[in-house]
This record gives sequence, C-alpha cells and structure tokens, in this order.
Amino acid sequence: AKNEGRNRACIYDEAMDADLSNRKLLESDLRDALDNDALRVVYQPIVDKSGEKVLGVEALCRWTHPTRGEIPPSEFIPVAEHSGLIIQLGNWVLRRACLEGLAWPDLTVAVNVSPLQFRRSDFVDVVERILAETQFDPTRLELELTESVLLGNGDSTEAAMVRLKALGVRLALDDFGTGYSSLLYLRRYPFDKLKIDRSFVRFIEKAADAAAIVHAVVSLGRGLGMKVTAEGVETGDQHLFLRAAGVHSMQGYRFGRPCSAAEITARLEAPAAF
Ligand code: C2E
Ligand code: CA
Ligand code: CA
Ligand code: CA
Repeated sequence: AKNEGRNRACIYDEAMDADLSNRKLLESDLRDALDNDALRVVYQPIVDKSGEKVLGVEALCRWTHPTRGEIPPSEFIPVAEHSGLIIQLGNWVLRRACLEGLAWPDLTVAVNVSPLQFRRSDFVDVVERILAETQFDPTRLELELTESVLLGNGDSTEAAMVRLKALGVRLALDDFGTGYSSLLYLRRYPFDKLKIDRSFVRFIEKAADAAAIVHAVVSLGRGLGMKVTAEGVETGDQHLFLRAAGVHSMQGYRFGRPCSAAEITARLEAPAAF
C-alpha cells in the first residue's frame, strides 16, 4: 500500500509537470501570436427580443495555433491572465473590434475586459486613446466586466467606471449571477446592462429554479433601469420563454454563432438570408 501511495504521488507530480510545461509552451506561443498578429476576433450577433433585428455584436478572441489548431479561449485566456499577456491581448482585441466595428454604424460593439486589465491605473487612458485613434464612436462601445472586477478597491473601480461613462462608453455586468455579486454593487456602480449567464438559460425550460432566477434578474434589471441580455440561447423554447420574461436582447447559437467581420457585414446587408 505504501508503494502504491508513492507511485500515485509520482504520477501526480508528472501530471503537474506536464501541465506546467504545457502552460509555459502555450505562453511563449501566445506571445509569438500576439507579436505576429496571429490572433483573430470573431463577432457574435446580439438580437432584439423578436430575434430578428441585430442590435450589436460581442467581440470574442480566437487563436489558431500553428501545430495544435484551434485553442479555445477557456484555455488561452487563463494563460494570458497568468502571464500578464492579457493586457496586450485585451488592448489588441479592443483596437481590432473598434476598427472592424467602424463598418457597422448602427451596432453596439461589446468587448470583454479582464479584471487584470480593468484594475490597471491606466486602463481608462488606454480606452480613450484607442477610441481617439480608431475614431470609433464611444457610445457604440460596451465594455463587459465580470463581477470579479468589483472585488478590488471600490473607490478606484467606481472612479474608473464614472470616467468611462463620461466618455460615453456603456458598461455591462457579464456572467451575472455566477460570481460573488452583492446586490449592493448594482446600486453603487453605473452599469447599463446585465448579462444573464448561459448556465441559467440552459435549464429554463426544465428547472423551475433556473426559470425563477431569470424572472428575478429581469425584474431587478428593469427596476434599476438596466437592460437585460440573455446569453447562450440555443432553442426556440428558450427564446419564447425569455421573450415572455421580458429580456431586452438575446445572444446564442439560435440567432448566430460567432463569425468573421465580413460575415456580420453580409448579414446586415441581406438579413433575410439568415
Ligand atoms: P463570455 O464572455 O461569457 O462569452 C460567451 C461565450 O459563450 C462565448 O464563448 C460564445 O461563443 C459562447 N456562446 C454563445 N452563444 C452560445 C450558445 O448558444 N451555446 C453555447 N454552448 N455557447 C455559446 P467563447 O468565445 O469560447 O469565449 C469563452 C469566454 O472566454 C468568454 O465568455 C469570455 O469570458 C472569454 N473571452 C473570449 N474572448 C475574450 C477577450 O477578448 N478578452 C477576455 N478578457 N475574455 C475573452
Ligand atoms: Ca462576455
Ligand atoms: Ca465572461
Ligand atoms: Ca457567460
């Protein structure tokens, strides 16, 4: 039994080492990708409650690794956060989304912001500079922040958000309900929108509790004057439920997968084809 324990410990160590060296490899490959413009941004439509009108898009980062193929953001975003590369990556995505978003003057362009990015003291300056350089209309930019952003220093978080609002930028609270939210945050910080996470939408037809949570979030958002977007809408039943519940907008495979900027442009030009 003693031997077994040692063997197990040994295997465990090897797995940890493999994990660590995998992460180190990915990290240096990601640095190369950033330096060589090898990342892409795809855009997922956000539609109104009818499901027909595109109101905006969410920018999502993509990385095709030269030998390993497509690496999902769930794998490379943590690597970027761990190594500090997320600052460069996040700024790159923001600039890219603003440049490509110039083609869609009627749409809102939503960009994800890592807590590490947001907490930097120069974050708002960087946003301001990218807006000026790209000539992107600040009122069409929506920054998606997660609840973990709010765990830091409340005063500086609030100050940064107020400055962004003064620029005209909109703020969305992403993955709402999955983090350490306190309802007090919703009063304190100037969010324009709540995004209901896919983990709730997934179960709305099957589980009464998920449905109750969605109803509560919608009325909370409405009461506080915020828009509510549901993400991860895959089925017609989910769409009908959410529409009846009163969400303002929806996002999910039901209405379109993340796609290239050119495909968004094509969809805006010939909506009937989609
Ligand atoms: P998120 O912000 O919650 O983005 C929504 C995710 O749900 C996207 O995954 C999207 O492709 C996926 N999705 C949308 N509709 C459906 C659906 O109907 N069904 C299913 N199964 N999935 C759906 P993706 O692109 O893999 O991104 C995962 C996460 O990685 C994002 O979650 C976001 O947290 C992060 N991420 C992606 N791009 C960036 C970025 O540029 N910066 C930062 N900081 N994070 C990013
Ligand atoms: Ca998001
Ligand atoms: Ca998110
Ligand atoms: Ca989510």
